[in-house]
Amino acid sequence: MADPRGFLTVERATSRERPAVDRIQDYEEFVVEPSDDEVRAQASRCMDCGIPFCHHGCPLGNVIPEFNDLVYRGRMAEAVRVLHATNNFPEITGRICPAPCEASCVLEIDHAAVTIKNVERAIARAAIEDGVGGGLEPVVPVSRTGKTVAIVGSGPAGLAAAQQLARAGHAVTVFERDAGLGGLLRYGIPDFKMEKGIIDSRVEQMRGEGVAFLTGVAIGETHSAADVLARFDVLVLCVGARVPRDIQVPGRDLEGVTFAMDFLAQQNRRVAGAVVPAASEILATGKHVVVIGGGDTGSDCVGTSNRQHATSVSQLELMPEPPLVRMPENPWPAWPLVLRTSSSQAEGCERGFSVMTKAFVADASGKRLAKIVAARAELTRGTIREIPGTDFDIPCDLALLAMGFTGAERGGVVGELGLALDTRGNVVTEGSGATNVPRVFAAGDASRGQSLVVWAIADGRRVAAGVDAYLRGSVQLRVTSSC
Ligand SMILES: Cc1cc2nc3c(=O)[nH]c(=O)nc-3n(C[C@H](O)[C@H](O)[C@H](O)COP(=O)(O)OP(=O)(O)OC[C@H]3O[C@@H](n4cnc5c(N)ncnc54)[C@H](O)[C@@H]3O)c2cc1C
Ligand code: SF4
Repeated sequence: MADPRGFLTVERATSRERPAVDRIQDYEEFVVEPSDDEVRAQASRCMDCGIPFCHHGCPLGNVIPEFNDLVYRGRMAEAVRVLHATNNFPEITGRICPAPCEASCVLEIDHAAVTIKNVERAIARAAIEDGVGGGLEPVVPVSRTGKTVAIVGSGPAGLAAAQQLARAGHAVTVFERDAGLGGLLRYGIPDFKMEKGIIDSRVEQMRGEGVAFLTGVAIGETHSAADVLARFDVLVLCVGARVPRDIQVPGRDLEGVTFAMDFLAQQNRRVAGAVVPAASEILATGKHVVVIGGGDTGSDCVGTSNRQHATSVSQLELMPEPPLVRMPENPWPAWPLVLRTSSSQAEGCERGFSVMTKAFVADASGKRLAKIVAARAELTRGTIREIPGTDFDIPCDLALLAMGFTGAERGGVVGELGLALDTRGNVVTEGSGATNVPRVFAAGDASRGQSLVVWAIADGRRVAAGVDAYLRGSVQLRVTSSC
């Protein structure tokens, strides 16, 4: 156990951040790394509960009390090994996971949770920057199975599955249609939340473990899925849930109404050094920006718009404003359904709840967006309705649609293979990740629907265990997951 009195003597302290006025001048990460002593003090707050709930809150089943204790005692090399036993990419989750583990920490009942995510980030930093516990040395399998696995998609699900399967001795090839690897880690999540060198280091490690990466290859489009299936023993589909939810209101086709992902991916490419042709630029600079949708994607649009120096940034949410504290029907250790302010929203954003977008209206040219007509909405018996007579205008030159995603792309590889989809547009899988097509498995957002990176990694590990058992005819690859 960490310090038995730690939680009584040490207050929860979250990371320091560069001030908003400073950090919106660039796209670099803004969290100030805590000192080793600060991390140890925070880890000391763990009570090592008889029945810990935190690792059930973590989709990966990270063994949190154990690594808190090891960090407190300064046994960092063991902490690195314990953490890597369940999480392939803790340097990623340590940055962008919303930390459901902390919501289910027992201290959260009447104190404040252990800063588990920050402890995790510090362990990952020790591994990567100082090579502690083997660092990012490739883990090469002692023997090879002679079996071949094709993974389509290099997001966190594909990368986790590839790493697990390569370490189990299979010959793994990852096919990625984008020029860069990482999926939404690279082209969705902005650099100010996670710089992309983080992905490159892991990819280097995986190459050392024998994983082959082929980019610019769209299976089901530039290359036939049937050919891939003929050449490999198993095909694992980790193609994400990339169909954005659209809004069908007048003016949808106006110049200036665009999907959030087009805006975000373009900025990430720009940060990576790509030159975007002027004709296809989507920029918030000097504009009144309205982000429609209150989730992660919307928040990233807010942060990016502020960095591009928008004149104003607003974010509209159809649902009512959540309460400030848990309601009785939402008790611990469930995820708290309360009002949150993301780091991007804290940088400057007008938030509107219970707002329904009714129309996009053009300027005098008749082509370019000039304003949004909106109305107040109310939630009655599970249905959102417009409140008549509450129309109002919002000046807007750039509307970013961030209303979620409606499943995997239907054509391409999914269509060619004839994969069964559920009513939400996700690929239907069994617990092992097997689909309705023999030798084809699926994982991550493609089968779960748009979710979280931590779930994608957990799904990648789970499908790897399913594939390994299928290829060997027996269960050998260990997966720790609460799913
Ligand atoms: C803007 C945004 C911000 C987010 N922020 C967070 C966050 O802060 N924290 C968090 O936990 N989660 C966040 N999420 C969710 C998280 O990014 C996803 O849940 C996660 O990336 C899903 O991983 P995946 O591997 O299943 O799919 P993806 O990351 O979507 O990767 C799928 C990959 O498959 C490739 N692909 C698709 N079709 C083909 C094909 N036919 N051939 C070859 N390759 C193909 C794609 O190019 C892509 O690289 C965010 C999502 C978005 C959109
Ligand atoms: S991966 Fe997320 S849920 Fe799991 S321990 Fe880390 S921060 Fe918590």
